[in-house]
Amino acid sequence: MNTLLLAITAIALVVLVALVLRPVQEIDAPEKEEDARISPLLRGINYLLSDEPDLALKEMVQVARLRSEAADVYMALGEMFRSKGEIGRAVRIHQNLLARPDLPKSVHLQAHLALATDFQTGGLLDRALYQYQKALEIQSDHAGALEACLRIREQSSEWLVAEDLLSRLERVRNESYSSHRAYLFSEMARQCFQQDNTEEAHAYAKRALELDESCAPARMVKIELALQENQTEAAEDGIRNLWQHAREHFPLVIPCLLQHESFYHSHGRPLLHDLWHEFHDAELMLAWIEALANIQTTKEAKLCCDEMAFEPRSLRQSLRLHAVLGKDNDAHTRFARQWRKTARNFSCEQCGVEVVEVRWQCPQCHSWGTLHPKSEEKV
Ligand SMILES: [Zn+2]
Repeated sequence: MNTLLLAITAIALVVLVALVLRPVQEIDAPEKEEDARISPLLRGINYLLSDEPDLALKEMVQVARLRSEAADVYMALGEMFRSKGEIGRAVRIHQNLLARPDLPKSVHLQAHLALATDFQTGGLLDRALYQYQKALEIQSDHAGALEACLRIREQSSEWLVAEDLLSRLERVRNESYSSHRAYLFSEMARQCFQQDNTEEAHAYAKRALELDESCAPARMVKIELALQENQTEAAEDGIRNLWQHAREHFPLVIPCLLQHESFYHSHGRPLLHDLWHEFHDAELMLAWIEALANIQTTKEAKLCCDEMAFEPRSLRQSLRLHAVLGKDNDAHTRFARQWRKTARNFSCEQCGVEVVEVRWQCPQCHSWGTLHPKSEEKV
């Protein structure tokens, strides 16, 4: 609401200045026209003061219509409509502005950016991209427009284009985004892997790890490739490297090991067994038990838990274990399972957002590799 009030006040000021500075012949205009110009403004301010921003907006639109030369008023109005979620009206305002033949070049850039933001807010990504492109034609090193395009390309999994935009952004800002690039390469590797293009998948995973050795998704693609190609030694190396360089995300690979049954029995299981006995990492053990229950049977999960002599040491750990091994009709089990489904297990080190499932890119601040597993959950 404060932003809205500020914006309306800014418009009121712009219009007031415009009215004060207007040419002499306009002052001599008939009183009726004067009324038509001033009264919506005064009414607008009045509504504003009596805390009725909707009615104030309506009057301000009237002012902008009458004072057609005031581009700033249009820009501020569009901004206001967008912040109120009225995307259609914001779009119309910015489009009208761009259609004006006398519009200065500097306002053109702003209007394209504003229109792009309208479309992006409304989820019309193609149109948003087109407008950002128009803005970049006016100013090719506009970091904000480049960043917005990058975000949209990432959102639509167009990793190659995204990587190109990242390079442009690096040049404009004179900064290196090598870890960000590693994640883009790891996404490309995953995409190639899913399309059975194993050669490219290998190449992109390698490039990702050259840039950032702790890039867990790239390490996971490498392990999955090795498993698929029955490269037992490479798979084992991959698993050990994941443990060494990205331990917090290690549990994610366990279901994948279980899905390759013969590898799991010959190499995977002994490896997990060794890691457990050496490090006593509860996250590893719980992920193992959960994966066994999901992919094999609850009985297997229980056997593993007993054999490894696993004892939960916190409320969170005991809830996770109970969700898997508890009796089906038990109220505690029901609670534990509900908690397991909805517990936010990962939080972003940049913006603090918490999510249920792992993500490599933060859904809120869009940083890469900043979501880490939470060790303790308030229950
Ligand atoms: Zn974040």
